[in-house]
Order: sequence, then C-alpha cells, then structure tokens
Amino acid sequence: MNRRYLSIALSGCFVLSMFAPDVRAQQRSFYQQTDLKGQEIGKLTGDTYYARMDDYVSVFMVTPEGIVLVEPIGTEFATWLKGEMASRFHVPVKYVIYSHSHWDHASGGAVYADTARFIGHENMLRNIAMPPADTPLPQNVRAQDTNGNGKIEASEAQGNLKTMFSLYDADKDGSLSGAEIVRGPILNVRAPDITYTDRLNINIGGKRVEVIHQPTGHADDNTIVRFVDGTNVLFASDWITVHRLPFGPISPDEIPPVKAVEAMDFEYFVCSHGRLGKKADVTASIRYREQLRDAVAKAIAEGQTLQQAQASVLMEDYKDWEFYAVQRPQNVAGTYRALTSKK
Ligand SMILES: [Zn+2]
Repeated sequence: MNRRYLSIALSGCFVLSMFAPDVRAQQRSFYQQTDLKGQEIGKLTGDTYYARMDDYVSVFMVTPEGIVLVEPIGTEFATWLKGEMASRFHVPVKYVIYSHSHWDHASGGAVYADTARFIGHENMLRNIAMPPADTPLPQNVRAQDTNGNGKIEASEAQGNLKTMFSLYDADKDGSLSGAEIVRGPILNVRAPDITYTDRLNINIGGKRVEVIHQPTGHADDNTIVRFVDGTNVLFASDWITVHRLPFGPISPDEIPPVKAVEAMDFEYFVCSHGRLGKKADVTASIRYREQLRDAVAKAIAEGQTLQQAQASVLMEDYKDWEFYAVQRPQNVAGTYRALTSKK
C-alpha cells in the first residue's frame, strides 16, 4: 500500500488525511522495552541531535535546507518527532535513511512522505518484497493453523502474529499466508525511493551525511550513517551496542566490520537501542568480542561441549552490561558454532 504514495503528486496534509486510515496503529508496547522510558530530543554536537522513544533512538541533522533523519522507527514515534522538529527547527525533513528493513526501525516513514525522500540499501527492496504465493507456513507457526487450511486466521493467531496481525496482513483478507508471515509485520514500511550499493553522500545546507553499506549477520541491508558535523556522529543500528551485550548468536566474523567502524572519524556513537555512546564504546564492543572469541576457543581446545562452554565462559568483566544474563549464553553459542564449523 505504501507504494501508492509514490504516484500521487499532491502534497501535505491532504494526502496524509486521505490515507490516515490505512496506516495501522503501531503501539509503543510492540517495541522492545527496557529501563529506558520516555520521549526526548537532545543535542549531540553541532546541529546533530538524537531523539528517543523508550529504548529506541534515532539521529537527525538540521541544516538551513532541511533535516536528514535516520530511522523512522514507527508511526507513533514519527508522528511525535515530526511535530517536535517542525516547531523547533521550522525546516522540513528532506531525507529519511533506513538503517535496515526490520519493522521496528523502518516503519512509519509515510509520516514524512510529504517532504522527504527515502534512502535504503538496494537489498532492502528484496527484503520487503512479498515472497512467492506458494511459500508454506514457517514450521514454528504451523501449530497455530488449527483448521489446517495452510493459513493463519485472526481467530487462530497467537503471540506475535496475534499482536501484530494487521501489520502482517498485507492484502487485508483477514488471514495470514506463509508469504505474509515470512515477509514480516512491515505494512507500515514505506519502500526506499533512492537505493545505493556501496556508499552514498548527501550534501545539504553546507553539511554532509555519509550513507555506508555494512552487511552484518543481523541484516544484509544494513546501513551505517556518519553525520559530518562538528565532532561527527556515527549511527549504527542494532549490531554494535553500548554497554549492552550484543544480540543473539554472534560470530567472530563480525569483529573486522566493528573494527572498520572504529577506524572511522567520529566522537559520538549512537546505536538504535539503549544508551548514547562515544567511540570508546565501540572499542569496548571489540574488546568484548575478542575476549569472548578467545575464551570460547580455549574452551573448545580443552574439549568442552557447547553446554560446558556456556557454563564456563562467564565474561565476568561484563556482568554490569545490559542483557548479560540473556545474551551471554547466546553469544557463546554463536561463537562456539562459528569456531567449530571452521575446523
Ligand atoms: Zn534489526
């Protein structure tokens, strides 16, 4: 449905109000919750700011010709932030940069469609395309198909499929096909209208924003953004976290890309989640990953099984990092598998 916006030349409130009923509500409660609560805007450096809603963070740069924003995050966040930016800065949002295609970062862009263009890595188009119609229901949701018709009706949906049913149901027929489920709850993700392959520079109002492709295990359409302003701000979504263990079964293969980020010129580091950081936080992430790799390698050399390594590799220096209890065993597992599969 979002592609419809592209073909409509009308602008402003008329378009938004015409299509407002099509933008499904995307409640804040759908999003990852942590101790960080509330909405706020704060200055980083020069004319570059961060905006937060609970655990989610975006960054924007204000220039006399308009604003460059990374991450729409969602309809609620985008609607709030658009109003705040209009009343504080009196210039429109000219570019929205997608860090990757996942629903909890890329939703809500349509809110800015009256003034902005949308930039994403070229892989994002493939990742948000509808898979073939005969895509079967994924194994992990088949139990929900109690009437066995190969679809999940609203009355059958459980958990995540129930909570975000309308965001999965792209054709709005009241049931979810395998293709709709594999595609994800991305009804509110507006496709990028500018895509790039390796790198793209935005020059606006005498400033520059660098849009850089860095595929990761988390997302092959991952984009890093460097705001060249004052002492420079680097934004990287999800995969380099600040005072927080990385998410999931990470691999040592990600150490070189994190080092490549560390080598860039910036002072402020903003991850899409959690607290604000500085370059030292990226360095700390490298140290964690290297110590984890070495500790797991040692456990493997001693003949430990995965379960034994998960029990013995405690990474105690990082006990006060967020998600230590939940993510440490997963981090160990991903590293163990990566190191043993290479033998
Ligand atoms: Zn993600």
